[in-house]
Amino acid sequence: MKYALVTGGSRGIGRAICVKLAQMGYQVVVNYKSNKEEAEKTLELIAEQGGKGDMLQFDVANAQETAAALEGWHSANAGAHISVLVNNAGIRKDNLMMWMQPEEWSAVLNISLNGFYNVTQPLLKNMLVKKFGRIINVVSLSGIKGLPGQTNYSAAKGGMIAATKALAQEVAKKGVTVNAVAPGFIKTEMTADLDEAELKRLIPTGRFGEAKEVAELVGFLASENSAYITGEVISINGGLYT
Ligand code: NAP
Repeated sequence: MKYALVTGGSRGIGRAICVKLAQMGYQVVVNYKSNKEEAEKTLELIAEQGGKGDMLQFDVANAQETAAALEGWHSANAGAHISVLVNNAGIRKDNLMMWMQPEEWSAVLNISLNGFYNVTQPLLKNMLVKKFGRIINVVSLSGIKGLPGQTNYSAAKGGMIAATKALAQEVAKKGVTVNAVAPGFIKTEMTADLDEAELKRLIPTGRFGEAKEVAELVGFLASENSAYITGEVISINGGLYT
């Protein structure tokens, strides 16, 4: 059995990635922070595809909680090896830097950037030993271009991009690839408060993207066919920024 862990798999892009990986034959570990009902819905969608999965609650920003949950999962699934990790959990707390509160800064950094460390570090050793691994980090156009009102979010995603490139070089010889996908505007709860009608006029394809479209890209990067791609940041933004 091949196992994949998707952080923030309860909703939005993470849910679509869980379904895609299940279709590819992975047994999917669906992480969530607090939304158990939505995580259960993800599991139902996986089951509808004939796939298998289980839920694993932990806050990626909390190193001890994350380590304990992963240890617990490994104890309950002796010999199982998570060979695909998708670091997808993330939040937005937009504000102009002039008004940005310490909590708005640290919450966004703690979940995206520290979350990347908290989850990846404990799972990496097994991938190196087994000489196969796929680590895919969900970043953002904001982390490439920088967006006003998102100094915290741009810093978090930009940090993940730099970490992707560094780690890719550390582990390439062991058959582990590390890549990032950088979505533009994708229709999820995270973007529900944005003025879609206004913003889509800026996008060459004239629409927001679908979570499923991001999942297709992640699915390719998770597959054995992507073995020669590592350290890359692949944009998926309808031509908004290249
Ligand atoms: P979403 O619909 O708001 O879903 C966020 C997911 O992250 C939920 O499953 C949530 O779990 C989980 N999560 C949040 N904090 C967490 C924590 N501390 N520990 C574990 N899980 C946590 O967001 P989305 O739009 O799908 O975004 C997914 C990723 O894509 C994020 O990293 C986001 O930055 C990135 N992204 C999104 C867009 C876009 O346009 N939507 C664009 C670029 C990048 P609960 O359900 O338990 O709360």
